[in-house]
Amino acid sequence: MDKNARIYVAGHRGMVGSALVRELLAHGYGNLVTRTHAELDLTNQSAVERFFDEAKVDVVLLAAARVGGIFANASQPASFIYENLAIETNVIHAAYQAGVQRLVFFGSSCIYPKACPQPIREEYLLTSALEPTNDAYAIAKIAGLKLCESYNRQYGTKYVAVMPTNLYGPNDNYDLKSSHVLPALIRKAHEAKLNGDETLTVWGTGTPRREFLHVDDLAAATRFILERDVTEGLYNVGVGVDLSIRELAECIAGIVGYRGQLVFDTSKPDGTPQKLLDVSRLTEMGWCAQIGLEDGIRQTYQDFVAGYGAQAV
Ligand code: GDP
Repeated sequence: MDKNARIYVAGHRGMVGSALVRELLAHGYGNLVTRTHAELDLTNQSAVERFFDEAKVDVVLLAAARVGGIFANASQPASFIYENLAIETNVIHAAYQAGVQRLVFFGSSCIYPKACPQPIREEYLLTSALEPTNDAYAIAKIAGLKLCESYNRQYGTKYVAVMPTNLYGPNDNYDLKSSHVLPALIRKAHEAKLNGDETLTVWGTGTPRREFLHVDDLAAATRFILERDVTEGLYNVGVGVDLSIRELAECIAGIVGYRGQLVFDTSKPDGTPQKLLDVSRLTEMGWCAQIGLEDGIRQTYQDFVAGYGAQAV
């Protein structure tokens, strides 16, 4: 990809978008276009069309989305399906109308069926029913990847969909009601340590298995795809190994230095029993995640303490 390409990073203040900006700037892509939420509301169709008319971008990285953990998804399904569908339809259609040939759409591993064979291959999409705690979000993300496929088929565009597994890293959300499990447990363990609490509550049974990818690895995979001139398709991005929520909680407690007991609140949902992506489509092309989970959590905990943790506690 041309280093001078004008690249619009939608959602540049979020965890994924900010990692994309860091990755692109570090590798000589200096012609980035960004808009804050206040400057451009991506759910507003005419505002999005005006932006694309004026901004003259070559490439779009669509990392803007309403995202959240199991509780936020289960309690606000309307916001998750409406906002994500609006953002996707507005941005993808306006990009096409403005002549944008290349776009990367970011989804999530929750697009795959609940009872999927593991590890999950891209072709298992739409083979059986979704996990109910986040089906509204998943339907919106499936619509996004189908938009990409459909525009490619009808209009000859080169829109690619990337499906990362559970992400973590700088600029994550540490609000306990809307966050994902990894940042939630970092915060809970940190606060439990400072308060001298004897117990730390983990939601669910602790048996569900999840895979965690550092967001900088996702950004590296995205640059890899852009530089290989991949023109279509769906790409899982993950590390290829998973662990149970109990193992994750123990690992985080160890890194944070919390020595109390883990208690499992089984009144909270487990969600899907396992989510492990098969990443061979990308690894066969030569890409591989670089950041190990323990190193990644250690680094993320430092960021948390320096930023959010310093204000919250
Ligand atoms: P999911 O991967 O879409 O299910 O989303 P989450 O990251 O929110 O949750 C993953 C798993 O971690 C689920 O089984 C949750 O019940 C469990 N979990 C344990 N403790 C927590 C917590 O404090 N917050 C969240 N969000 N999940 C938790």
